[in-house]
Amino acid sequence: MTNLYLIGNWKQHGSRAAIQAFSKQWSFNANPALRIAIAPPFPYLQALVEALPGCELAAQDCSVHAQGAYTGEVSADMLADLDCQFVLVGHSERRQYHYETDELIAEKLAAAQSAGVTPVLCVGEQLSAREAGEQEDVVRAQLRSALAKSQPNLLIAYEPVWAIGTGLTATPDQANEMHAMIKQEVESLLGASQATPILYGGSVNAENADALFACPHVDGALVGGASLEAASFMAIAQSASNNLSH
Ligand code: PEP
Repeated sequence: MTNLYLIGNWKQHGSRAAIQAFSKQWSFNANPALRIAIAPPFPYLQALVEALPGCELAAQDCSVHAQGAYTGEVSADMLADLDCQFVLVGHSERRQYHYETDELIAEKLAAAQSAGVTPVLCVGEQLSAREAGEQEDVVRAQLRSALAKSQPNLLIAYEPVWAIGTGLTATPDQANEMHAMIKQEVESLLGASQATPILYGGSVNAENADALFACPHVDGALVGGASLEAASFMAIAQSASNNLSH
């Protein structure tokens, strides 16, 4: 059975009280083939792991530097020290608001891998590229630059920018088609034997999760807004669990 991955991205949301409330509602007996993680803001990593023992930890970003005079930065080694299993790299909000380039993203990917934290590389096209039919070219170019220094141990999240936080979702066919292309491209870049899991992200919720997880090339989801409430995140986890056999 192949693993499915469900990662909640809390972005700049959360508090100690919110974590306590979430943990009181959270009761999900995950099949070990379903890996569930949450990426809270950095200050809450420790509180989250203590409050949700069955849930894995993810971070939203990491520095390219191992240590040093880089005020405000958090290294991948520090994340490993906190038993953080995953780190998001190249989220579209980092690309847009923090001007992260593909070159920087490639370095972050390498930093995470050398620290033993599995990077979740985020790729995806803007609406204008989708409308022009250029979505595959855009994503292929992102993969080629980001994976230039990469080892095979990573996850990829396909997140069409027009679907993030907008309530618009790629159709299952659009997601499946793009994931198939990404798998082919990653195989040719990192070696034919690699089966890199590809997660879909972009307004995943309890209503659309079933149809997305049923797609043969969708290996999980990266969920923003719907991961903030335990009830909706549990409903998505249940959909993933129901689809574990595909
Ligand atoms: C995200 O932040 O990666 C995301 C997909 O957000 P949302 O689910 O809110 O669209």
